[in-house]
Amino acid sequence: MTSPDSPHVAVIGGGICGLAAAHRLAHRGTRVTLLESSDQLGGLGTFFAHEDRWIERFYHCIMPSDASLLALLGELGLRDAVRWRETTMGMVVDGRHHAFNSALDLLRFSPLRLPNRVRFGVVSLLLRRLGRGRDLDTLRTEDWLRGLYGDVVWEKLFAPMFGSKFGPAFGDVPALYLWQRLGRERNVATRGYPDGGYKTIIDALRASIERAGGVVRTSAPVRRLSSTGDRSVLAVADGEVIEARHVVSTVPLPQLRRIADDALAARLPRTDLPYQGVVNAVFFLRQPVTEHYWTPVLHSGTEFDGVVAMSALAGPHDGRHLVYVMHYTDRESPLYRDDDTAIAARWSAQLRGLYPQLGADGIEEVRVFKAPFVEPVYPLGYLAARPSVTVGGTGLLLATTAHVYPDVTSWNSSVGLANSVVDALAVQPAAAPAR
Ligand SMILES: Cc1cc2nc3c(=O)[nH]c(=O)nc-3n(C[C@H](O)[C@H](O)[C@H](O)COP(=O)(O)OP(=O)(O)OC[C@H]3O[C@@H](n4cnc5c(N)ncnc54)[C@H](O)[C@@H]3O)c2cc1C
Repeated sequence: MTSPDSPHVAVIGGGICGLAAAHRLAHRGTRVTLLESSDQLGGLGTFFAHEDRWIERFYHCIMPSDASLLALLGELGLRDAVRWRETTMGMVVDGRHHAFNSALDLLRFSPLRLPNRVRFGVVSLLLRRLGRGRDLDTLRTEDWLRGLYGDVVWEKLFAPMFGSKFGPAFGDVPALYLWQRLGRERNVATRGYPDGGYKTIIDALRASIERAGGVVRTSAPVRRLSSTGDRSVLAVADGEVIEARHVVSTVPLPQLRRIADDALAARLPRTDLPYQGVVNAVFFLRQPVTEHYWTPVLHSGTEFDGVVAMSALAGPHDGRHLVYVMHYTDRESPLYRDDDTAIAARWSAQLRGLYPQLGADGIEEVRVFKAPFVEPVYPLGYLAARPSVTVGGTGLLLATTAHVYPDVTSWNSSVGLANSVVDALAVQPAAAPAR
């Protein structure tokens, strides 16, 4: 239970990072208030109502290596609510469908000639080991992968796959990001999904924070933030002011800069990092189109770059099969700014083109969701340039996707970051409690 004498901590943002931080603080006896601007918690993991079910706006799954997240789920009594399934991967290249899981699949993978298939298999087996002990943070992904796999594999497979995630600067992202990603997904076949969806976790976190005496507020956008050594002032909507000894901000750095007052903004780390956003559509299909959970779509004339068949992991619902398609892009790009209805119409036609079995009435419904800030496009040498979680001379701590690198942005890395920020807060010098 929180102590009324403990210094007040405000958490900005009710995504998984803010929820995990507030949960941890409240259970340490800290007086905590979480402020979320939208009317729902969950951030990028949030949901929408569809008939009697809650569905994630963006596809999400849990990996067996997600230790921090699984430990948190254990604390919430939800560890056994994760349903694990063996999943498979497909690949569509030039409109043709391929399975992409076993050595046999690779030997049959016709987009590459046989010598390249063999090279692909051997290098992929050794890739994690080949990266050990190397300074991958200052090595371009393109240079590393071209050197190991050769030009054909880079151009045919990796360039479109990385381009879909990081945009035109894809080749420049540090090879360390890929290496780390391979570590997270080393047991790629097994994935988890929580019973009742991610809303179950979000609801449990809110309940746990409130049980421990914390306050969780939605529709409470922080519009202005000032912070000095012993006092932070947060202006919320309608002239309301909240004071806190410390603030943990989980909002992307460019958004934080917009709400910081001039004195605080001058102390914030650089925010000229480009960020990728995402355009993503959720399809409700009357029939399954693929047994593969994850299918990159390359050189096939679609605006989206991949298909995630959520039903392959979470099962169908009332006979409907859920499929997500996505394109990561800058928030200023023509696609991002395009009208949702127009995107839904074009992407429906493109999905039918990929899976002709859908026919004219195979798609029951489609919803388009966008997010402007998913993660930064990390520059070379970012490990050294990565901003600190503390902002000197202020009571502000930062816990954002710009801080999780080289870990992959995920619920797991956000929970790990929240844990370390709360630990950093515990060793901050004590000061006079905020009035
Ligand atoms: C398409 C897609 C697929 C993904 N797939 C997976 C997956 O399979 N597995 C996985 O683990 N992760 C996945 N992720 C990544 C994961 O969603 C993110 O890494 C994680 O949700 C980041 O959480 P966060 O709390 O750091 O940030 P966010 O979720 O962005 O939360 C920040 C919160 O701050 C709020 N906010 C912003 N400004 C203010 C303000 N001024 N005042 C108050 N509140 C404010 C926002 O509304 C938001 O709720 C995926 C992401 C996307 C987009």
